[in-house]
This record gives sequence, structure tokens and C-alpha cells, in this order.
Amino acid sequence: MTYLADANGYYGEFGGAFVPEILHRCVQELQSMYLEVLHSASFREDFDRLLRDYVGRPSPLYLAKRLSHRYGCKIYLKREDLNHTGAHKINNTVGQILLARRLRKRRIIAETGAGQHGVATATVCALMGMECVVYMGRTDVERQRVNVEKMKMLGARVVPVTSGNGTLKDATNEAIRDWCCHPSDTYYIIGSTVGPHPYPDLVARLQSVISEEIRKQLQEQEGRDHPDYLIACVGGGSNAAGTIYHYVDDPRVQIVLAEAGGKGVETGQTAATIALGRMGIIHGARTYVIQNEDGQIEEPYSISAGLDYPGIGPMHANLARQKRAIVLAVNDDEAIRAAYELTRLEGIIPALESAHALGALGKLRFKPEDVVVLTVSGRGDKDMETYLRFG
Ligand SMILES: *Cc1c(COP(=O)(O)O)cnc(C)c1O
Repeated sequence: MTYLADANGYYGEFGGAFVPEILHRCVQELQSMYLEVLHSASFREDFDRLLRDYVGRPSPLYLAKRLSHRYGCKIYLKREDLNHTGAHKINNTVGQILLARRLRKRRIIAETGAGQHGVATATVCALMGMECVVYMGRTDVERQRVNVEKMKMLGARVVPVTSGNGTLKDATNEAIRDWCCHPSDTYYIIGSTVGPHPYPDLVARLQSVISEEIRKQLQEQEGRDHPDYLIACVGGGSNAAGTIYHYVDDPRVQIVLAEAGGKGVETGQTAATIALGRMGIIHGARTYVIQNEDGQIEEPYSISAGLDYPGIGPMHANLARQKRAIVLAVNDDEAIRAAYELTRLEGIIPALESAHALGALGKLRFKPEDVVVLTVSGRGDKDMETYLRFG
């Protein structure tokens, strides 16, 4: 029994690959070779070197003393906010561009919501001298000017998407459409543990450097290689997948996932997919989706653009279904409060997404000897306007 993907990309009844006929060959090509590439010595060497010298890994595991005192346990923060480009997303884009090169693709496409994954993709495309097209909803283009300018400066073409509400879901549809038109020369870098198999497993493996480091760092600092709790926020699920990867089958570790409650799970203005979603298919995977009675996908809402997604990775849907993970909905106001608390107690301004993980602390009961590892998935620079408006 494992909570990791099986050979067909299923996590229990979640996952699989539901793609249009024209993409079957691309997806199958990827399925048939991704593990071989990931395990090859040359990939490992390139990946490990870039993570160290370019991304700045290992990221610190920081014992947050004042925060620990507040919650009556021992809290370590996994500092993904200190990575190049300011979040965990770069771990994935570095890995996938190395894979794209080995597949001899010359053109890279990506979707982005807040622009964090778009910037991380444009960054590695500049690094490798590859053509880069990023699809971004029109609404997000307006809301996230700085990230749009960064992508352009990095040499990417940003295509505003006007369908739907002009947000992440629509950008993803458009990226898939592009991929269908250019299946032979284009590689699609997906930004989270979503999409058709093998993407959820591929992205989880690339992000698993996070839990690999946690294991070593806890051994050094605590004299044992596992925590009692792991806490991470979930949009599509990639920083959470990386945080829990090496512990997912270890019953000593309680997994806690924080999804975006928005204005409240009952208000209709929410992105709490585990709380409200029903089984459906979104962007090539079978998973929980927030949908109406006709099966139409509902527009999600969260104050945090990175968590504003109407689906959830199949790995996390299964963890919730099997009760392997505790899933908590953290509302906008709770996240804002938690962000200010971390800032004042530890001098760390977290991304709004990460603030949802911090917001889960107050909903749990800890013992003084409990060791908690919470992933700070990104830094708060991009969210300053929101913090000033609502703080
Ligand atoms: C994109 C993003 C997230 C949400 O994505 P996951 O795939 O669920 O990790 C969380 N935190 C930050 C800082 C992000 O940029």
C-alpha cells in the first residue's frame, strides 16, 4: 500500500490521463521515458548542480523560536521563500526544462495564474536559450503587472487569454490548445501536480528535494529524521507534494494540508476543493472539481492567486479520501492574520499562499514535544499591496 502513483498514474481512483486524441503520442512519449531520464546519472548531475548553484539549495530548515512559543510546540520553517525567483516553483521548472532538452523540444509553453510559474518558466528558458510562450488570463495580466514585465524582460511572450473569467483555468485550457497545435516541437511545462499522467508524479518527484532535505536537516538538528507534523498549503499541490514525498507512507508523520477557504466555505466565494469538490475531470486528470449540478466548473475565489484553482492534484484528493491527510480550509482573513503574525514574530514576510499553511497552526492542538515542519512556499514581496489593503 502506497500513497504514491501507480504505473498508470493513479492514486487510488484519482489521476490517469484524459487527453484529446492528438496529444496521445506526446503524453505517451513522456510517460514512457520520464522515469528513465529522472534516474539517469547525467540528469541527476545537471539537476543537482543547478539546484545548488542556481536555485540556492539546500533551503534552510529554520527553528522559529518565537512562533514555536506562541503555539506550544517546536516549529521548523522550510524556507522555499529563499530560492531564486522567490518560491518552490523553480525546482520544478529547472527539472522539466532539462527533460524537455533531452526530448529535443525547442519550444516551451506554460500556463500561469499569479505569474509565479510563468516567471519561473521564463527564467529557465532564458538560462537555456529556449523560446518561451506563457498563457495568462486577461484578469491576471491586469492584476499582476510586475510579473508580466519580468516575463517580458526574461524574453518570454505573454499571451493574455480572454475566455472565461480570464484566470488560471482559462490559461491552462489555452496552453493545452497550443500543445495540441504543436505536438512535435513543443514541451508543456505544467506548474503543479496536476494535469494528465505523468505530470503529477513528475512534478512531485522534482519537488521531492524538499522532503529529502528535511530528512537530513531534521537528523542534524533534532537527532531524528522525521517530524510529528508536516504542514503545507495546497493550490494544485506541488509544494505540499514536495514537503511530504518521503514521508507519505510513514504513519509516524501527521500530514496537514491547508486549502483556500476564500471568504468562507459556505459563501460560494472559495477555492476549497477538498471541502466542496465532486469527482470530475479537469485538465486531463480525474479528481475533485468544484462544479455545479450540470458538471460545469465553477469560478473559484481566493485572496491568493496561487491557490485560486477549481481542481486539486490527484495525489492530494486521494490523501484526503483515504484520511491520510487532515485538510483544513483557511479563510482570507485568517491567512492575512497569520502572515502578519509571522512577520512580527520572526521577521519573515510570507507569500499569501504560504500564509494559509501558517493559518492552520491555530486550528491544531500540539503537545510541547511535537516537532512541526511547515513549508514557507514563497516570499511575500508580490503580495505587499494586498497586505497593506487588508492588514
Ligand atoms: C503557486 C504557488 C503555490 C500553490 O501551488 P502548489 O502547486 O499547490 O504548491 C503556493 N505557494 C506559492 C508561493 C506559489 O507561488
